[in-house]
Amino acid sequence: MACHKCPERSVITLQHGELCKNHFLSYFEDKVFKTIKKYSLISRQDVIGVAASGGKDSLTALYLTQKYLQENNLNNKLFALAIDEGIHEYRATTLQDLQEFCEGRNIPVTVVRSQEIFGQTLDEAYPRVNRGTKKKPCNVCGVWRRYLINKHARKLGATKVITGHNLDDEAQAIVMNWFKANTSLAAHLGPISGVEEHELFVPRVKPLYFCPEKEVRLYALLKGFKIQFVECPYARDGYRAQIQDLLNDFEAKYKGTKQGIINSFLDILPLLKERERKSEKGTIQQCQECGEPAHGEVCNACKIKEVLVVES
Ligand code: SF4
Repeated sequence: MACHKCPERSVITLQHGELCKNHFLSYFEDKVFKTIKKYSLISRQDVIGVAASGGKDSLTALYLTQKYLQENNLNNKLFALAIDEGIHEYRATTLQDLQEFCEGRNIPVTVVRSQEIFGQTLDEAYPRVNRGTKKKPCNVCGVWRRYLINKHARKLGATKVITGHNLDDEAQAIVMNWFKANTSLAAHLGPISGVEEHELFVPRVKPLYFCPEKEVRLYALLKGFKIQFVECPYARDGYRAQIQDLLNDFEAKYKGTKQGIINSFLDILPLLKERERKSEKGTIQQCQECGEPAHGEVCNACKIKEVLVVES
């Protein structure tokens, strides 16, 4: 099949037609840059930390952030911040990819090890936390990661954290929150995470918000990013994996399902955020244990630490 814009061979079929390699790359980059502009994800004064793991999403976000800054003659400070949760035969591989990627592009990298903060790797901590709470590895991992990214991005002077969340990730998070009737958590989603500003909280922003996972994968492949595409051994172990299968199934049968979820969610997101801002749950406090931002008296990371002490 030929590209609908030129005689070159198509590499992908999109809703508006076939695209060849070059037209797809421009289409994808345009979409990301428009998202950055439309939602003001980056401003001239920002110090930007990219939450990077070495996977396709974060490397694409990192690469396109640097490209956006260069094309717009912006001199923002940019660095990559990675969390090593301690996942055997997985994280060391992706972090090696990240180091190589950043070395070639002059991007400084900071790696923070969960073990140094929480005293245990995720592999060690998860069975104990699960015994006490039935939480899945991704629940523990997500809490640790958000906590460490915010704390260390702030220490490094970041005013924005860029994440590699793509359209599939967001659609899954929306549906998970609907299914669990968690509209309070849903209010924290969107191209800019969170509902209110706080001096201890570094806003997290998502330039790949409108990019489906398959487009990000293709972009990373066509750009020749050295990625080993390893999957986390815990990836199939949670609620999210089932929602992912469900949405993929629907998308295969009814094209545009995931985009429809995002569009309808964005319609009501301002209302959700407004309601959350007015509620007590939405107020950011300082954790009584560690001083980091928390929704409640104790942050979720410290709550997990307490379980670890009991279950040790
Ligand atoms: Fe963490 Fe789950 Fe992602 Fe693995 S799949 S890195 S455990 S959030």
